[in-house]
Order: sequence, then C-alpha cells, then structure tokens
Amino acid sequence: MPSVFSRIIAGAIPGRFVCTSERWVAFLDINPVADGHVLLVPVHEAPRIQDLPAETLADLGPMLARLTAAVRAATGCPAVNVIVNDGPEAGQEVPHAHLHIVPRFAGDGQRVGLRHHAASAESLDAMQAKLQAAWR
Ligand code: AMP
Repeated sequence: MPSVFSRIIAGAIPGRFVCTSERWVAFLDINPVADGHVLLVPVHEAPRIQDLPAETLADLGPMLARLTAAVRAATGCPAVNVIVNDGPEAGQEVPHAHLHIVPRFAGDGQRVGLRHHAASAESLDAMQAKLQAAWR
C-alpha cells in the first residue's frame, strides 16, 4: 500500500502543491503548526532519509533552500524550523521520509520540545570516537 504522500503525489488524493520536480514535491501540511507549514517530500518512497537514492539526496539542498525562501516570502516570517522526524521514536507518523518547513515569528509561542543536558568531556570524547567509527 503506497504511503499517503505517494498517493498525494500520484493524484489519488488531494494535495495543495507548492512546487513539483522530478524528485521532490512540496505541499501544505493538512494540519499545520503555523500558516505556511509545508512538507518537502521525495517522490521516491522510503521511510528514512538514509534510504533515499543518491540522486534524490543531491537535489535536496537546492530544493530546501528555495523552499525556505518561498515560505519566508509568502508568509513574511523571519525564521523557519526545518524538522525531520526520522523514525517513529522521533515522532514520525508517515513512514515516507519528509521535511517540515515551519514559519516562525518572534513570540509565536511555539517551541521545539527537545531538551539539552550537560555532558562530561569524557562522554563527548567517547561519543565522538563512536560516531567517527560509524562514519568510516
Ligand atoms: P510526521 O509526524 O513527521 O510523520 O509528519 C506527518 C505530517 O503529515 C503531519 O504534520 C500531518 O499533519 C501531515 N499529513 C498527514 N496526512 C496529510 C495529508 N493528506 N495532506 C497533507 N499533510 C498530511
């Protein structure tokens, strides 16, 4: 069964498109956090960003830069949050990779709910080593 986003891209269910291209589309989120909340969605359906084809990933940067500029221009927002919920434990509800672009204004009362904590130099060093090994 194709994802809800694949069905929107295929025209099987309605979507309010902002732009379409060979590998990415953007449409309005149906339950926006703020007016102008847009989803940037790859045409290739895969649950995680890391599963997307190289050519899709290559197009992401230019699409994202242009779309954040369009959201700023259309809404007048001075800032945006670009959010990726990459996996259900991170809050991903639709298992088709996507990015949220959310307009932000000073004093808008929104918050992104992640909490930071202090970390020791030793634990940062150990994690740096693990990540460097995973990167290789
Ligand atoms: P996530 O939790 O990151 O998977 O976000 C999924 C997003 O998809 C939510 O913000 C939903 O409001 C949005 N959404 C779900 N169904 C639709 C739809 N038919 N059209 C547009 N946006 C949708």
